[in-house]
Amino acid sequence: MIHGMPHEVLRKCGKKTCKCNRGTKHGPYPALSVNRQGRQKIVMIKKADATSVLNGAERYKHFQQTLARIRRIDKEINQILVKLKIDTTTDYIPG
Ligand SMILES: [Zn+2]
Repeated sequence: MIHGMPHEVLRKCGKKTCKCNRGTKHGPYPALSVNRQGRQKIVMIKKADATSVLNGAERYKHFQQTLARIRRIDKEINQILVKLKIDTTTDYIPG
């Protein structure tokens, strides 16, 4: 897995006569949006690495989504078990 969310970047090259100065930017170029120390950072991906990095990032995304789903289900199970415990438990009070 590769840490980061797939992201596409459009760029201006800086040449004054270029089409990118009239709205048609260059790209899209593959990049990763990465969280580093709480800050979102865009990391450009080298063309030669694009396929493997994007595949790794896709696996990371799937892992994160699955983890979030498991945590939601776990929370639901916990709530059901707490309710079950409350509904089925009484104190023993010797008569
Ligand atoms: Zn340009």
